[in-house]
Amino acid sequence: MIARSTSERAERQSVSLPVQDALGYVLAQEILTDREYPPFDRSTRDGYAVRASEATPGAALRCVGEIKAGDSVTEALPAGNCVQIMTGAAVPQGADAVVMIEFTRRDSELVTFERPSQRGQNIVPRGSEARAGQVALSAGLRLGFAELAVAAQVGAAAVCCYKKPSVAILSTGDEVVPIAETPGPFHIRNSNGTSLAAQVQLAGGTPVPLGNALDRVDDLAAKIEQGLQHDILVLSGGVSMGKYDLVESVLKGLGAEFFFDAVAIRPGKPAVFGRCRDTLVFGLPGNPVSTMVTFRLFVTAAIDVLSGSEARALPFLEARLSAPVREKSGLTHFLPARVEWEGAQPVVASLPWQGSGDIAALTRANCFLMVPAECGEIAAGERVSVLPRWDVL
Ligand code: AMP
Ligand code: MG
Repeated sequence: MIARSTSERAERQSVSLPVQDALGYVLAQEILTDREYPPFDRSTRDGYAVRASEATPGAALRCVGEIKAGDSVTEALPAGNCVQIMTGAAVPQGADAVVMIEFTRRDSELVTFERPSQRGQNIVPRGSEARAGQVALSAGLRLGFAELAVAAQVGAAAVCCYKKPSVAILSTGDEVVPIAETPGPFHIRNSNGTSLAAQVQLAGGTPVPLGNALDRVDDLAAKIEQGLQHDILVLSGGVSMGKYDLVESVLKGLGAEFFFDAVAIRPGKPAVFGRCRDTLVFGLPGNPVSTMVTFRLFVTAAIDVLSGSEARALPFLEARLSAPVREKSGLTHFLPARVEWEGAQPVVASLPWQGSGDIAALTRANCFLMVPAECGEIAAGERVSVLPRWDVL
């Protein structure tokens, strides 16, 4: 249901973008090939274009010229001859193989071949990568560098993409001050506003910073109302059990329905997810590491769907644990950790940290090590799942 309403929304809101500005957007149109690819029989090597049956070991053929990449090729290769050819150049009619220059000897006009030749070798036939007018890129495809290269190749200088979902970011807390201000002795700067905006950007959304709401119903309600103008509203703080954790009740008062209001994870247990009017709303716990983990686990998939594509699975990788870990069972833990590679083998170690307020520890981590709820303790050498920090790994 979310997918349907969101793709409808995305369909209404597409933008035409220069291809060089479209990285990370999702295509809202099909892009067709403008001609065959390759558009001519293309040599993939520097060497000699030959008839394979003539270029046998010890045979010598007369070289009748050269063809550079970009040259117009109109004449066929006469029998008993060869032509020097460069990578990316068009193979002339008559030739059916290219022999790498390394396997030839040249003496003036005569080229002697050292190895047997096979028909078709080192030639990509015209039209073998794509036919003219076929779908080169489908609607709903996320544009990475390879997709952008295909768009560029077929001459799609502008591409029609779904608008990125706008993601309002609202922190909460009487103790939270803007980062440009000097905090009082018992105040803290709003670091979550910054990390959330960065994560929204990485996820393919447009961050809309709304600043901070005080732990008061009137201020929260007014700022949440602003957030409800956007596709997604992400709040940090105010979702725990404290007397001044008012986010959930204020959202309820504004008509929100919740899909979940707690998760069996640490950090991040009090996270809530719901919908208020047409906006998906995430209430993430305010402890900075909890905010970051819960964003990654829950919000990125929502941004994917609202971007017009499918939700990407979390890219867990399997690694060998280098030192034992022990956590209380019952909750799935995500511990700041560092994965390194011994050859092709990932090996992970958890890092010392002071709990979910410790963002300094996170700067030394390149992943989160997952300790499943039922495990409690995992011995060194066991295989574990690791969620890469997608911004640094
Ligand atoms: P809360 O989830 O509101 O109970 O907050 C949990 C912890 O996170 C408290 O220590 C807060 O001071 C801290 N915190 C809340 N919001 C922010 C924020 N925007 N930036 C940094 N830390 C925060
Ligand atoms: Mg708070």
